[in-house]
Amino acid sequence: CLMSLLFGCGAADVLPYKDPSLAIESRVDDLLSRMTLAEKIGQMTQIERSVADPSVMQNYFIGSILSGGGSAPSPFASPSAWADMVDYFQTAALSTRLGIPMIYGIDAVHGHNNVYGATIFPHNIGLGATRDANLVQRIGVATALEVRGTGIPYVFAPCIAVSRDPRWGRCYESYSEDPALVQQMTQIVSGLQGVPPEGYPQGLPYVAGGSNVVACAKHYVGDGGTTGGVDESNTEVSFNELRRIHFPPYYNAIAASVSTIMISYSSWNGVKMSANEFLITTTLKEKLGFQGFTISDWEALERITTPPGSNYSYSVYVALNAGLDMVMVPINYQQFIGLVTDQVSSGFISIDRINDAVRRILRVKFASGLFEHPMADRTLFGMVGNQDHRNLAREAVRKSLVLLKNGKDSSNPALPLNKYVPKILVAGKHANDIGLQCGGWTITWQGSSGNVTVGTTILDGIKNTVSASTQVDYLESPDPGFVANGGYSYAVVVIGEPPYTEMFGDNDNLSIPQDGIVTMQNVCGAVECVVVLISGRPLVVEPYLSVMNAFVAAWLPGSEGQGVADVLFGDYDFQGKLPRTWFKTVDQLPMNVGDDKYNPLFSYNFGLTTGVGKTG
Ligand code: BGC
Repeated sequence: CLMSLLFGCGAADVLPYKDPSLAIESRVDDLLSRMTLAEKIGQMTQIERSVADPSVMQNYFIGSILSGGGSAPSPFASPSAWADMVDYFQTAALSTRLGIPMIYGIDAVHGHNNVYGATIFPHNIGLGATRDANLVQRIGVATALEVRGTGIPYVFAPCIAVSRDPRWGRCYESYSEDPALVQQMTQIVSGLQGVPPEGYPQGLPYVAGGSNVVACAKHYVGDGGTTGGVDESNTEVSFNELRRIHFPPYYNAIAASVSTIMISYSSWNGVKMSANEFLITTTLKEKLGFQGFTISDWEALERITTPPGSNYSYSVYVALNAGLDMVMVPINYQQFIGLVTDQVSSGFISIDRINDAVRRILRVKFASGLFEHPMADRTLFGMVGNQDHRNLAREAVRKSLVLLKNGKDSSNPALPLNKYVPKILVAGKHANDIGLQCGGWTITWQGSSGNVTVGTTILDGIKNTVSASTQVDYLESPDPGFVANGGYSYAVVVIGEPPYTEMFGDNDNLSIPQDGIVTMQNVCGAVECVVVLISGRPLVVEPYLSVMNAFVAAWLPGSEGQGVADVLFGDYDFQGKLPRTWFKTVDQLPMNVGDDKYNPLFSYNFGLTTGVGKTG
């Protein structure tokens, strides 16, 4: 524009797609009409940050980048280092011909869990135990702020799996075995994305503003229903059963305007979900009216191996035609882009299908304000791990604890514990380990023990809570003689599972790891003891119940171990209720509330209170 030399460009010179005053669909129409095939296919491609660089962004018009589980710019990267990385890639995306911003995504599944120093909330199983949808929504708000505080606009959360079998290694990513409870907890979407205004069209993506993020409901559909709880395997149920058990949370997510949906690795009756046109296109998009974009799981197309002898090229063909819009490629992007290009020219993938996919992606990018605000908001750095969020996580921990036994007989309760006794023992390695209490998806993909991030251990919490004159001894695994002669009023024994997640977390025996059993037996045989179990699912406990004076399921509480002490010592009462059935033996599995043959150790919804302490 000539006048710009003197006065700067006026609104009339702005390309329609860059004009925020126009309706989203008009902006999409305008932009789509300007795009080449290469630019469109680029939008559909999500790559890992480790293979991204400015020339890749520019040459392939890449539409999205992700940090795969735990993939950080460096282990202790600060919020500004994260934001610098995201902005670096974004600058490259914006320098392309049309300047379409890329969207950076990350697994923030219990807080902003890849980021050192972020608040780590309880994993979903613990949130299910709270029964508090409003709390979960507030956790969504806090998580969005922490994620934005590192310059990231997109999270692969929530996981709204209805996990029907605790042998599944992702059981803890599911709020419950009960579809109705998962439906309620789906309210986290309204926290992450914000609440759409009254009358906002059903199914249309929505993100309120720069303090919110694009959410992703996952993994559609039936991920929690695989036979034997085997990860990524086959959900063998009728369509009616799929509808009754696994679909309901998606109704709520779509009603809350969830912007993206990740397609499950699992199969339904032998057909990979990523190849299922009926469930993705006919059902999700056409019948349920979902207008955001679908995204594949990590290298999900490579996993489509039927029919026998089929190859990656065939997988790309079926998955895109089934209705996948964005593909988490995420390493071999050249191969993917090449194949899609060939298949469009040979007519195996229609240009209409490509346009539909790109339209959906652009819709989310416009709806989330990415075109207007593509760069990190550096005023939000202080959001990461801030005290308000830690307080919220502590509240969530308090509400998530489920009291399953209190006293060897009911007239003799062991809880709440007395803060004013002279000497207590804390035992078990899970009492003093942030990594163990956070579980998988914490800093690294599988999680690990040790001082992985900033937080308060359960031991720290106990020390903060008892009276100044109470001596707290901590021993990971004390011998029984030492305990018996130690003069302890009681002991708190904290034991449980090691961290794990997908691919490595499936477990057929669900027994408490042996070192924990030894610690528990040594301590509980010698002194009155409260056993706190840190686990991503119910474990076999019946054989040990008689030795314990009290038993508490604490799930995977996250960074704020103080919340456990708040409840053990009666400042707050127990409020949690079992979000899933606690079986007696593994051969009862799968066993879920509502089953004809239901003979659990503790029923779904069970949870005692002490009658002492505040609630809330
Ligand atoms: C998981 C997803 C996750 C993705 C990206 C996959 O392996 O199944 O839940 O969002 O990786 O890290």
